[in-house]
Amino acid sequence: MKEWYDSIKKAQSVDKLEEIRVAIFGKKGVLAAEFARMKSASDEEKAQIAKDLNTHKSSLMNELTARKIVLQTLELQEKMQAEAIDVSLYSTTSQAGGLHPVMETMDRIVEYFSAMNFAVKTGNMVEDDFNNFEALNLPKYHPARDMQDTFYFKDEMLLRTHTSPVQIRTMMSTKPPIRMIAPGAVFRRDYDLTHTPMFHQVEGLLVDEEGKVSFANLKYILEDFLKYMFGDVEVRFRPSFFPFTEPSAEVDISCVFCKGKGCRVCSKTGWLEVLGCGIVDPNVFEAVKYENVSGYAFGLGVERFAMLIHQIGDLRALFEGDIKLLEQFQ
Ligand SMILES: [Zn+2]
Repeated sequence: MKEWYDSIKKAQSVDKLEEIRVAIFGKKGVLAAEFARMKSASDEEKAQIAKDLNTHKSSLMNELTARKIVLQTLELQEKMQAEAIDVSLYSTTSQAGGLHPVMETMDRIVEYFSAMNFAVKTGNMVEDDFNNFEALNLPKYHPARDMQDTFYFKDEMLLRTHTSPVQIRTMMSTKPPIRMIAPGAVFRRDYDLTHTPMFHQVEGLLVDEEGKVSFANLKYILEDFLKYMFGDVEVRFRPSFFPFTEPSAEVDISCVFCKGKGCRVCSKTGWLEVLGCGIVDPNVFEAVKYENVSGYAFGLGVERFAMLIHQIGDLRALFEGDIKLLEQFQ
């Protein structure tokens, strides 16, 4: 055993120390072998051997941990010395900052709808149950309200899961007609390749007298908007379901990567889903006490638009703050 204590003391790098750790504590390591040998000993011997081995086991582990801390500190010092930056050095190139691609995309979206006479409204990120769910025809048992998806505070307060509560608050405080968009950050308990706990939406709402707003109006403006954002793309509407609109549709554009021929990004379909929309459900108007009105609504994810416009393959790249990526958007 002594040679193992020595080898830990002599280890000169964290990597080497890890090799030693595996050699001692690994499945095929010395300790496992010693414990296996114990089986052939007599019962009295067994107790003593086990006691000894366990003592060695914990003191070897202590030695390893202590040596690791020393080596890590040394390696960090070396690294910091090697990467030292002289902040007093004068730079001959000065760089201007730039907008983050998500903000730049959001600005373009806002620019389009402002030109179309939509007011820009922002609301609270901390919302209550009524404005985030109840008034949007999302009753208590609706799966979209699952604890999995929502960050809750006490007393039925929560982080808004979409920007729709801004529309509810606008309708509660203003008489129709309404023409508005709500851009902003929203929050959901979701984190994987294609989801982040915080992302950005732009949602739009138009309300006017009953009979004045049709699906054709909605279709026209969204087609025009998508061509403004993506250039010459095909646009198609597919029937869908959302609790706050009826009828509802999902909107696809022809794939910007393969021009509709079919590729990995569009799962060989030639289409990419970019928007949800529909005619406002009467239950929503009832909740905000609007009568004899009709309206349409739509919503989109800003990160998805930014990724498609700039052909960025990984959503997480937008949140890492990597200068090499951001420099491209100056
Ligand atoms: Zn494609």
